[in-house]
Amino acid sequence: MESFEYRSGELFCEEVKVSELIKKFATPLYVYSKKSFIEKFNSLKIAFSAIDHLICYSIKSCSNLAILRILKDMGSGFDVVSGGELFRAEEIGSDMSRIVFAGVGKTEDEIEYGLEQEILMFNVESKQELERINKIAGTMGIKGSVAIRINPDVDPKTHKYITTGKSENKFGVDIKEGLNLYKYASTLKNIEIKGIQMHIGSQITDTFPYVNAIRKIKPLINDIKSAGIKLENIDIGGGLGINYKEEVTFDAKTFADAVLPELEGLGLKLIIEPGRFIAGNSGILLTRVQYVKKSPVKNFVIIDAGMNDLLRPSLYGAYHSIMPVIEKEEKEKTVCDIVGPVCESGDFFAKDREIEKLKQGDCLAVFSAGAYGFVMSSNYNSRPHPAEILIDGSSVHLIRKREEYVDLIRLEDVN
Ligand SMILES: *Cc1c(COP(=O)(O)O)cnc(C)c1O
Repeated sequence: MESFEYRSGELFCEEVKVSELIKKFATPLYVYSKKSFIEKFNSLKIAFSAIDHLICYSIKSCSNLAILRILKDMGSGFDVVSGGELFRAEEIGSDMSRIVFAGVGKTEDEIEYGLEQEILMFNVESKQELERINKIAGTMGIKGSVAIRINPDVDPKTHKYITTGKSENKFGVDIKEGLNLYKYASTLKNIEIKGIQMHIGSQITDTFPYVNAIRKIKPLINDIKSAGIKLENIDIGGGLGINYKEEVTFDAKTFADAVLPELEGLGLKLIIEPGRFIAGNSGILLTRVQYVKKSPVKNFVIIDAGMNDLLRPSLYGAYHSIMPVIEKEEKEKTVCDIVGPVCESGDFFAKDREIEKLKQGDCLAVFSAGAYGFVMSSNYNSRPHPAEILIDGSSVHLIRKREEYVDLIRLEDVN
């Protein structure tokens, strides 16, 4: 049984009628399936069970504490990209020896915080960052554990905004510079080298870019070892794609079957950092049609969710499947733009979408909204953040209250 499915014409999340959630909590509303998070995480855990590995869920994809706790309880570590994400991991009592800290712009405070927490390793993106970690660790009288993020210059064939492993991207260290930086790191007194890392992009729908990237960094790994530098782990990042429309993607087993042979003989522990793969299809965004209007050339369906609630269509032109929460008896379809209320022409969810004729008051589900959904939401146009609900079988948990107007001004001061 799917976590989100139609039964006799009505959308369910696990055992709960989505229309009941809307009655109780209103729209716009994020709804997550606990079962879906568990299944996705377990599929990876099982696929890689033959080798020593660690799954570090990427907090930035969906960061609600209730969700992080589910993953922590299943043994997940975390990939964090800011002090705020590290704080979230700390709040749920995460095992800090399972945390990797990425990001090109780590501040002194963030580094100090990671060192204090004794995280597994910083994934270092530049020589200056290495020097900064060395200096701060020195003043604290401890060692900073690091991997260096290598940019293997592979094309993952995904959207240009979410490609990170090509040489023109800001991320990581050029593969040709890798050996020198490892040698330099090994001379720094307060640095302990733990591993090597890469993360080549997001929404990658084919396993080959991973295989290709591992093949490209293997000679570097050998050179590092020959230079007498010990590595413990290889972190191949995240980026595993999901199905938004009709993409052909890969499942956990296919991924493992492609990657594992490449790692044979390296003697390194594998770390992966999936975000979207676990969260993406574990959540939906619910919204209600406010108005239907016609211009001379277009039909517009105006909904009560906006780009401030789900930014992906505006930011990347991303496709999200959108369907009525209660199936229409009248199956006749029209073509329309589904747009939000925000004062920007870029505020749209779908353009020229074929969908059943909609009317004022209809409720819609925007699918595949679990990753990079709520986490990218903002208060633009002074719109309060939507609530978040977690479904577990037939039980309903409000895991983040809907913001109220007073929340919008809480930190402001007119005096
Ligand atoms: C964003 C990010 C991830 C997760 O990416 P997904 O595409 O959601 O799997 C993993 N590692 C790093 C370093 C990231 O920046």
